[in-house]
Amino acid sequence: MEDIKKYIIDLFINERYESSRFVAFVDADVCDGFNKSDIIEFISFSLDFLDIEKQDKQLSIKLTNKPEPELKSFAYYVPNDHYVYVNCKNRHKLDVFRSLAHELVHYSQDLKGELNDPTQVQSENDGVPIENEANSVAGVIMREYGRKRPEFFG
Ligand SMILES: [Zn+2]
Repeated sequence: MEDIKKYIIDLFINERYESSRFVAFVDADVCDGFNKSDIIEFISFSLDFLDIEKQDKQLSIKLTNKPEPELKSFAYYVPNDHYVYVNCKNRHKLDVFRSLAHELVHYSQDLKGELNDPTQVQSENDGVPIENEANSVAGVIMREYGRKRPEFFG
């Protein structure tokens, strides 16, 4: 069922980028407000920062302006599926990138076997160690990216 939902949603996606480490689906609407190459570069930068190599199961990332039917939050990560979802509708670019970095930290936690209880991730509870780590590491990624691309934050 989940797969069918994802497939139907993917039909509306008309921007696709694939690298050895991930495939990104980016809505054309998103690209109106975001430079697509910035998005791709930021994902690669974050994966480098997190020391993530190519995996057997590829990471897929979706940036969209169209909410999923049962959307509970702006962004989430699906453990084992290696799937990151980020909704960009009416959000500032830096806010979206911070979400993206946060979910990529969850991906890295998943690869290290730290997401034994998936409900922890979905609940996004403050105070849960994996959430604290995701928030703080996402902050570091944003800072480091800002050093590399100061104009991005201007
Ligand atoms: Zn989280």
